[in-house]
Parts: sequence; structure tokens; C-alpha cells
Amino acid sequence: MNNTINWNFDNSYSRLSNVFKEHIEPTAVKNPELVLMNEDLAEELNLDFSKIDKSELAALFTGNILPEGSNTIAQAYAGHQFGHFTMLGDGRAVLIGEHLNKNNKRYDVQFKGSGKTAFSRNGDGRAALGPMLREYIISEAMYKLNIPSTRGLAVAKTGEEIMRETQLQGAILTRVASSHIRVGTFQYVAARNKKNDLEILLNYVIKRHYLDLINSKNKALDLLNLLIDRQIDLVVNWMRVGFIHGVMNTDNMTISGETIDYGPCAFMDTYDPKTVFSSIDAMGRYAYCNQPAITKWNLSRFAECLIPLIDKNENKAVESATELIDTFGEKYEKKWLNMMRKKLGLKGEDKKDKFLIVDLLTWMHQKKVDYTNTFCHLMNLKDYDDDLYNDNDFQNWKKNWQERVKSNNNSPENYIKLMRSFNPLVIPRNHKIEKSLEAANKNNLEPFNKLLEILKKPYVQQENILDYLKMDRSSKEYKTFCGT
Ligand code: AMP
Ligand code: MG
Repeated sequence: MNNTINWNFDNSYSRLSNVFKEHIEPTAVKNPELVLMNEDLAEELNLDFSKIDKSELAALFTGNILPEGSNTIAQAYAGHQFGHFTMLGDGRAVLIGEHLNKNNKRYDVQFKGSGKTAFSRNGDGRAALGPMLREYIISEAMYKLNIPSTRGLAVAKTGEEIMRETQLQGAILTRVASSHIRVGTFQYVAARNKKNDLEILLNYVIKRHYLDLINSKNKALDLLNLLIDRQIDLVVNWMRVGFIHGVMNTDNMTISGETIDYGPCAFMDTYDPKTVFSSIDAMGRYAYCNQPAITKWNLSRFAECLIPLIDKNENKAVESATELIDTFGEKYEKKWLNMMRKKLGLKGEDKKDKFLIVDLLTWMHQKKVDYTNTFCHLMNLKDYDDDLYNDNDFQNWKKNWQERVKSNNNSPENYIKLMRSFNPLVIPRNHKIEKSLEAANKNNLEPFNKLLEILKKPYVQQENILDYLKMDRSSKEYKTFCGT
């Protein structure tokens, strides 16, 4: 293998005992073909693919050849899926290793769609081109929205057909994450009732992600506390941009605080707190407005795993963990309120802010107004006009807002600047995503690449993109699928 790429692997997770993983190689594919590569991310990783020819790149990003220093494993984990506990694990993914960049920052590099593992159950271990491109583009959009996320380094076709409802082109996504350790990883180890293994995982996580806790007197409790904050920050960010994850099972919640597993996710257009896109979420468990409550529920499952490590006395441990979990509501409310204040450019705090915010959301809900574009309209940007904003109720609300936004010596220059850094001007619109994937499935990547370029600059005004700013009111109710 050409060593000009600068791979620099140090595979700490694969050095853990076999409780945590299975050693397995990706299954070779028939006819690899590179679809796209993330140059920005390659640069961040200090990887140089410029001297590698196309066919070798395709072989590399499908696992037909493995980079020197890799050590391929499938990770074990469990998870609550829609509330039900299941043993899972990487059923169609292989971690090829942990790469260190020049600054010694550590990145998991994983193939998704790379063939069967011990955890595949009835699955074929494969993935289709559409869902892998979808994960690539939405995770990139999230990253550029300044929201912690895993990212895609490449998508390559396998040259094999896979059977779903119809025959689809097989593909592999190379996913990069600060790690793939999940709440479900802790659940897997905790379910085996071996305190020693749980301790190993806890120490591993602290060493890898939360070094500040290395000398803590109660690492488990402090980790729980920290993760509560991280996950609140994450879900507040999702609420900020109208992102609906769609399948917030505990196996899809990372310990690093990054968004992971872009299956049936989508962005809300008209404001409706009950919005659900996922075809399998009939009860709306993972609806937009339920995301904070589910985050807390998932964190409670995490806390349960840690009980044996919090205190020898189980009652005492439960009490301490519960006390922390109970802080969730107040912490979330505070962070959400502050985020919404920034979306509206408000300086300082006023007791009436919450009413001002809720009044706006209620109006948007009643009149079925676009969430993203309403904030753009308030920032006086062109291209976001809509007759709906002539509505009397909105005009009255706006007067109140204009009065409040000027308080505390806030200048228009200041508040617009604040708003501009919290409100995206463009989000991945459902109809644009679908059309770009439709074309990509017919081997035309032009619409996909154009959309990707636009989504890379969500806070910048871009010319001639009107079509990308509007929802498609004519399309029937949008439905997403789990991407398997
Ligand atoms: P996900 O919905 O992607 O979070 O996956 C949930 C679980 O199902 C994980 O354990 C996956 O590895 C597994 N899985 C999903 N798709 C497949 C597939 N095609 N073959 C084998 N396992 C799969
Ligand atoms: Mg998953």
C-alpha cells in the first residue's frame, strides 16, 4: 500500500479484551468505484490521497485493500430500540482503526456497509448508495452548522446489487468519528454483570474523551454529570436548526456528544412540534418536541449502567445518579431559552422572554410557517418574503420583539450579528435531498454536489439559490426510512 497517504494508526479499542469486539475483515467487493471524497476532512486528518490513483482509492474505500496499521473490528453494543432492550453490535460496519492527525487528535475510521459480522443477525451487512450519500450530506451539513457530528470521508460503490424492496446499488460510507462508543456500549457491558469490564470501559472513555476527570474521586458520577451537559448542548443545537434525528435509540447516542447514525433524520420545515418523518415511528416517540425528553430517558439508561461504579451501596448510588438526572429539566430549559434568545438577537435576560419566544412559536405553528425562514425574515434578508408575514398577529408580535431587542443597549448591528451566527440561511430541504439522491442513483451526481456545496455555507448569503431556500408545499407528507 502506498505510504504517502500518512495513515497513522494507534488502535486502542482493539487492544481491549474480546468482550468489547470481534476481529473481522471487511468482505471483499466485486467492482469498487469511488463516488466522492471529503477533501476538507482529509486535510483535517492530515491524509494525502493526491498521489493515489482512482482504482486504488476505490479499493481502499471499500476495504478491498486495507491500510497498513489498521486492525479491523466490529464493536459490540446493545441498545434500547423504541424502548425495548436488544443486543446489537456493528452488524454492517467495521472499524478499521484509530487514526491520529498531526496534533495527535484521535479519529475512528469506520466502514459502514462492509459486510456481515458476528452481530449481523438476519441482515446482509450491506448498505445502499442512497442512504450512504444521505448520511454523508446531512452529517456534513450538521458539521457546517457547527453541530458536533460524525462525518463522511468517502462514499464508494461496491459494484454489487443489494436486495431491499427493490434492487439497489451497494455502497460503503467511510465514517469518521471522535469515537463510536455509545450509551449502548455501556449497556452491553453492564448487561454482562462483570464490574471489572465496566470499569475498564469507564476508564477507557475518560482517557479518550474526558481527561479532565482522570483524577476525579467519583469518575462514574462525574462522567454522568458531564454527559448530561454534552447531550443537552447537542439536543439544544438540534432544536435550534429544526433537526429531527428520527431514531434516538440508546445505541444511537454517543458518549462523545456527537450526532451519529443518520437514518430517517430530516429537517422540519413548517413549525410543528409534533413533526415526525420516520415511517416506523408511528407513535411519535422521536418527534421534534420529544427529543429533549428522550435525551433524558437515554441518559437515565446510561446512569443505570454506572450504578455499580458510583457506590458500593446500591441505594446510595441510585440516589446520587437520580439527583443528577433530575437536574436535566432545569438545565435544558435554561440552555434552550438562551439559545432561543440568541436566535432572536436578545441581549441579557428578561422574565418575559419566554413568553415572547413561545408566542412566536405558537404563531408559526398555527399558521404553518417555515421555522428556518421566519428567523431569516427577522434578519431582514432578501429572498425570505412571504405574505404570511403580513399577518396582523405576527406584526403585533414583531412590535414587541422590536422593543425587547433594543433593550440593554443592543444595537441593530449587534443583534443582527448575533442572529446571523445562530440562524442558518439554508438547511437541507427534504425535496432537495430527495431529488439529489434520485439523480445520484441514476449516476448523475451533479445535483448532489451542488446541494453539498450550498450546505457547506449555511450562515453565508449565497446568490441564485432561491430554489434551495423554500420548502416544497406541493409534495405530499414527507416520509423517511431507516436506511438499511
Ligand atoms: P441502525 O438502525 O443503523 O442504528 O442499526 C441498528 C442495528 O442493526 C445495528 O446493530 C446495525 O449494525 C444493524 N443493522 C442495520 N442494517 C443492517 C444490515 N443491513 N445488516 C446487518 N446488520 C444491520
Ligand atoms: Mg445505529
